[in-house]
Amino acid sequence: MNATHAPREVDLAIHARWIVPVEPAGALEHHALVVDGGSIVALVPSASVAASWAPRETVELPTHVLLPGLVNAHAHSAMTLLRGVADDLPLKAWLEDHIWPREARLVSPEFVRDGTLVACAEMLAGGITCCNDMYFYPDASARVFEETGLRAMIGLPVLDFPTPYAPDADGCLQAGLSARDAHKHSRRLAFSITPHAPYTVGDESFAKIVTYARQLDLPIQTHLQETRDERDDALAATGATPLARLDRLGATGPSFVAIHAVHPGPGDVELLARQGCHVVHCPASNMKLASGAAPVAGYLDAGINVALGTDSAASNNRLDLFAEMRLASLLAKVTQADATALPAAAVLRMATLGGARAIGLDDRIGSLAPGKDADVVAVDFSSVALAPCYDPVSHLVHAAGREHVTDVWIEGERLVDSGRLVRLDSAAITARAALWRDRIA
Ligand SMILES: [Zn+2]
Repeated sequence: MNATHAPREVDLAIHARWIVPVEPAGALEHHALVVDGGSIVALVPSASVAASWAPRETVELPTHVLLPGLVNAHAHSAMTLLRGVADDLPLKAWLEDHIWPREARLVSPEFVRDGTLVACAEMLAGGITCCNDMYFYPDASARVFEETGLRAMIGLPVLDFPTPYAPDADGCLQAGLSARDAHKHSRRLAFSITPHAPYTVGDESFAKIVTYARQLDLPIQTHLQETRDERDDALAATGATPLARLDRLGATGPSFVAIHAVHPGPGDVELLARQGCHVVHCPASNMKLASGAAPVAGYLDAGINVALGTDSAASNNRLDLFAEMRLASLLAKVTQADATALPAAAVLRMATLGGARAIGLDDRIGSLAPGKDADVVAVDFSSVALAPCYDPVSHLVHAAGREHVTDVWIEGERLVDSGRLVRLDSAAITARAALWRDRIA
């Protein structure tokens, strides 16, 4: 009689030099990630895999770090087609004189499709496995996310003024909710309602948004207090900050996501904390548009969950969370004159689990733990630019870049294989972007 159990067959074991699970913090040396049916089954020392598991596929990454797929918690993916179209301008002039007129002329399902493809290819190659997106024609972007295999939260945009997408807020809601109906059973897609900003969406529209969001259990996300003027104009006109106004309208709560939140007013930090709201920090966009620096360490100290986003390629100009991590850390240090502000582990958490929590997916993604979906990124630390390595977590934030990402899995599916995009044709996508460039320029 043999009392030992036969090793259990599983889909995949990835052996790596280090695994950074994010929760708990720190790095596991010479470990393997065991995956089956798209889920993480175990993280075990490499030497002990064979005792319990019989993987159908084994991937050896002896110089790599495995980390959870990065969550880009704020993007307008289709705007990659406007990358670099109007740089070095203040937000108001940039939006009103350059971006909105072009969007009014150009935006269509075809524009959204081609632009979102560019974004998906760029994000995947750079280790981003989930994108919290906000743009017109969400049906077109949802199709692209499904086709490319990325996980996404699709924002259903709402604006009071007419756009090619819809004549008004009601039209936006109608189009958005029908896009959601068409894709709501997709495993990798989730939805939220995304009023553009308090200054482009009035009280009546916000009240409707709150009603739909509560009925359909959808998060509400909006650009909030990105500039000092936005906050001060509202305070001067009404005596309340835009956030206080949205709170009065019932929009705040644990599924409310404040994007940017660069300039909280009196009582705003306490309000965000009390209501369990989330903040998405977009350091590159805030720096490039000279919007200011969000008080991120203060938000974290108040117990507010903070995620990290790129914003659009028109205001950034890269969809690169490695760059955002490093900028977030440096910006916090320089604005607070405190070199201990926002250490590497806290920033990496914002780019992974913080993003997952903000969009309500932290039970499935954001860390490497048994039971979670196998959304995994491999970063090669054999580059001379990363030598030597004392602390892999610190290296991921301060030394590594997206160019060191070699492999990406989503739900156990290898979508980037040794630097090659498996499902996507980069050359064809780049060629389409060049055609748009000729039309737009
Ligand atoms: Zn934005």
